[in-house]
Amino acid sequence: MTFASRTSPRDRVSFREALFTGLARDGGLYHPVERPDLRALFSSFGDSTSFPELASLTLSRILSPEMAEEEITRIVSRAFSFSPVLRRLDDSILLLELFHGPTCAFKDYGAQFQAAAMEHFVGGSDRRIQILVATSGDTGSAVAHAFFRRRNIDVVILYPSGRVSELQEKQLTTLGENVHAVEVSGSFDDCQRLVKQAFQDAALRSRLRLTSANSINIGRLLPQSLYYVFAAARRGLLGGRIPVICVPSGNFGNLTAGVYARHWGLSVDGFIAATNVNDIVPRYLRTGQFAPRASERTLSNAMDVGNPSNFERLEEIFRRDWRGMAECIRGVAVNDNETLATMRDVFERHGIQVDPHTAVGMAAARSVLASEAAAGTASEAASGAQLIVLSTAHPGKFADTVLRATGRDPEMPERLAACLKRPKQSVRIGKAFEELSGFLLERFD
Ligand SMILES: *Cc1c(COP(=O)(O)O)cnc(C)c1O
Repeated sequence: MTFASRTSPRDRVSFREALFTGLARDGGLYHPVERPDLRALFSSFGDSTSFPELASLTLSRILSPEMAEEEITRIVSRAFSFSPVLRRLDDSILLLELFHGPTCAFKDYGAQFQAAAMEHFVGGSDRRIQILVATSGDTGSAVAHAFFRRRNIDVVILYPSGRVSELQEKQLTTLGENVHAVEVSGSFDDCQRLVKQAFQDAALRSRLRLTSANSINIGRLLPQSLYYVFAAARRGLLGGRIPVICVPSGNFGNLTAGVYARHWGLSVDGFIAATNVNDIVPRYLRTGQFAPRASERTLSNAMDVGNPSNFERLEEIFRRDWRGMAECIRGVAVNDNETLATMRDVFERHGIQVDPHTAVGMAAARSVLASEAAAGTASEAASGAQLIVLSTAHPGKFADTVLRATGRDPEMPERLAACLKRPKQSVRIGKAFEELSGFLLERFD
């Protein structure tokens, strides 16, 4: 497969180049140029196909002929020591748990694959590369864990001092070795500005091998398609029915990955884009108007996005046909009160605690079922509709909100509890660019 940006479609690059450059020369996002037909492959998967097996076979088809199947299998085995779990909640709703990775959120899938793929390409060389990223919290911990101990790679993570949760800070700062946490006396925007400036600085660029690894990288997106394939292959659990998949969304990377899987031949009966009150995409799906605006803070804060970056990729898949997109994706926005009420109700009814992001998805799925029933369209519930809600984070990551909604502390996974006990290691800098460049040159030149 080759990759191109939307404004210069003739300027095509390999997976390797897209992985290491992140953005195209014209500043656009990379999207796949070809459309492989994977219907036969997808229908060969079943309830007993393991995630690594499914991942290797699918990615080998997508990345051929650039990469050989053995190479992909090696990357997959170094990336995924964890698997999704599909769990039935009731007759209509299933949860696809994506939080069994090292940092207990779905972002581990993208970050781990990206890191393992980069290690594959630079691991045998004689120079180290430096990955530079800014984080407002969650993404940084997935990236830190993904690059930890990867050969020939250093990772430098800038985060705003005092503006991430204690757990997030510990997840970033307690690994050490090749993971360098830089605490900036400033905001997340300052961190992002510093990173941008570093990539434009001639002196740094000539003396270091700076590389980005942000969420718009195609190496993060492709592996996220795999768990949609995994879920749809659980045909026994789905009672042989074709599912609708409901995706709690912010930047829309997760949903875009699912739409790619469908584009390549996966049998799914459409998607639900579930957002909090930052409902830019649900509004677009209803009206055809895409109107980004400043984001509002909510309980599902990883989805507080006012200008979703992957919308550009969604438009590309549907060839800018709003109606086509709206036929495939239904948008539902959920406010904080509904989120809390859903967390409480799911706990009372099923004895399961869900994090606030998953709760947005649950609330959206239930509202779709209810409106179909009310519309009398052969009641989805009665007709056996199967809605799979992506469970994007472990409830233990959002313990305060879970306690508030359900009256009970969630279980804290051992890997999260362990990092809370380890000492913080970070370097503190101010907002001036010279402080960052001084640190980078001293450490890596
Ligand atoms: C990042 C994140 C989301 C949103 O995913 P997008 O790909 O940005 O739409 C949802 N839930 C959790 C827990 C997240 O960390």
